Amino acid sequence: MDYKILENENVVINEKDGIHYLQFRKLLEYDSLIGHAFSIGRDLNFRTAPKNGMDYLPKEEMDLALNNYKKLCNAVGFEYKNLIRPTMSHSDNVQIVKEKINKDTPDMNIPSLENTDGLITDKREFILATTGSDCITMVFFDPVKKVLGNVHSGWRGTLAGISHNAVEKLKENFNVDAKNLICCMAPAIRKCHFEVDKDVADMFYEKYKYFSDIDEIISKGSGGNPEKYYIDTIKININLLLDDGLKQENIIDSKICTVCNEKMINSFRAHKAGFGLNALIAGLR
Ligand SMILES: [Zn+2]
Repeated sequence: MDYKILENENVVINEKDGIHYLQFRKLLEYDSLIGHAFSIGRDLNFRTAPKNGMDYLPKEEMDLALNNYKKLCNAVGFEYKNLIRPTMSHSDNVQIVKEKINKDTPDMNIPSLENTDGLITDKREFILATTGSDCITMVFFDPVKKVLGNVHSGWRGTLAGISHNAVEKLKENFNVDAKNLICCMAPAIRKCHFEVDKDVADMFYEKYKYFSDIDEIISKGSGGNPEKYYIDTIKININLLLDDGLKQENIIDSKICTVCNEKMINSFRAHKAGFGLNALIAGLR
């Protein structure tokens, strides 16, 4: 598979020891301060929590995921045991990570990190991880205050405005100036494929009708079906971040749709029941 075709002015695809990963050109400018990677390849799956309706994740699946995390960490020079992954639930909760629970193994499925979809830290030893399959995952980085965030924003998170919550926490707790803040959005389902029923479109409209471009963000579904709508969740997040004071040039969109590229990236919509999870990892150096 030639993953290099995913590259564009914002992202590059790299490979190490057989694992492929996407990196943002903007963050690579600060490679001595921050390491990061977004997994590429349908052969990879980062699921470490049970799927809906399951009591536990089969051991083989867990081992596979942990091994993939190891490879991804290794590719960007991180210590795998320093990984911290929140138990995501499509909430708008962002937590500041001050301590690591497990000493020699990654923090995953930790009770204190339940119902949490974003993590922030200024600790150099912590590697923050989020996963998704069509959902937007994003890295926040302030090169001045040297603070990092990793946020999962699926459609529910975007509706609730979790990216805005993350910026608020960065400002309040680390005195971050939004003008210095960089936000990079990893591959996710885009407007071309994010078609929803009217009830979901209505919720987005109610929340975000104050945007001047709301009629571009929400538009009629395929074939003019009055019950279907396409929604641009990437643009919603961009608008939220601009309103929070981020500079346009510091909001980096991978411009890659997971469904359009489902042969190369895991996608819930494309792969249905058998869907795998992609991972975004980031850590301060
Ligand atoms: Zn698409």
